[in-house]
Amino acid sequence: MALILYIDMDSFFASCEIARHPELKGKPLIVGSSPIKTKERGVVQACNYEARKYGIRSAMPTTMAYKLCSDVAYLEADNSYYERVSSEIEALLKAHNLRMEMDSIDEAAIELETDGRDSALELAKRIKNDIKNRFNLPCTVGIARGKIIAKMACDSAKPDGLIFLDRTDVKAFLQNLSVGKIPGVGNKTENKLGMLGIKTVGDLAKTDPTVLFGALGSFGKELFLIANGNDQSRVLDETPAISIGREKTLDKNANSVDEMSGTILELADAVMEEAKKRNVAFKNIGVKTRYSDFTDRIKSRSLNNYSESKEVLITTAKKLFSELVGKKPVRKIGVRVSMLSQRKGQKSL
Ligand SMILES: [Mg+2]
Repeated sequence: MALILYIDMDSFFASCEIARHPELKGKPLIVGSSPIKTKERGVVQACNYEARKYGIRSAMPTTMAYKLCSDVAYLEADNSYYERVSSEIEALLKAHNLRMEMDSIDEAAIELETDGRDSALELAKRIKNDIKNRFNLPCTVGIARGKIIAKMACDSAKPDGLIFLDRTDVKAFLQNLSVGKIPGVGNKTENKLGMLGIKTVGDLAKTDPTVLFGALGSFGKELFLIANGNDQSRVLDETPAISIGREKTLDKNANSVDEMSGTILELADAVMEEAKKRNVAFKNIGVKTRYSDFTDRIKSRSLNNYSESKEVLITTAKKLFSELVGKKPVRKIGVRVSMLSQRKGQKSL
């Protein structure tokens, strides 16, 4: 199993604000509308660790946060600023030339080519320092075999942490964690497992996998493997040299493919223009949605043959988007082609 370094920025939005408002450092901060200033019933979009000490959490109504602590600074969210910082962090990580992917606006996974503990820790420390020095932002890094367990390791070491889990440590690490700590296990799955008497990842590891399959289908089987430290999840390779992608924030959040079809056309045009310039055909089409809560999802499909057709790109992209829209409002979308092949010679005369 590949060794994976998982990087998660600590209270990202709040930390971005403190980086440019150093006078707020060490004080509780909420990103969101102040309940005093606005009559609107807002929610905490993000908060720093000082605010969390009072029990304040993200997604909590600001009126409730105010009851927990009235002496908190409020700053309106500045999403384009956070996205700008995120893409600069992405560029910094890409410079290491390893297989890497952004998992959300403030999380990234890097797959290591070597297997050693020392070199992995050295890279992690370097990344933490680089991000600290350049952006004045804290992050936590978890290193483990498999992306999911690396993310869980990372979560356990927050804030400003660094943790390395080797094969021998992983069982003890997972043993007493509640099943809800596994990414992808929400309240519904947690309740289903609870009814089977499964509370911890250790319980999960001991359960007959056919029982899990019966209750949760193939996800149950996956959970069994992860609980036993057998995490096969890897980093998707999306390096720019082998793909062409464009992204755009929508003018208005969208809830259907129709609402974003204008932007899809625009992105497809831009991608095709670049493909023509590089004289390449493509065999894989991918799309990405960023939702209003800043989580990302990607989907891709391989074609039977190489294509240079904008129509194929648009139809396929729309089909893929239709599988991603509807649940949550979409604020930003991306279209990408990969598995590129150089077209033979012919230039138009
Ligand atoms: Mg984070």
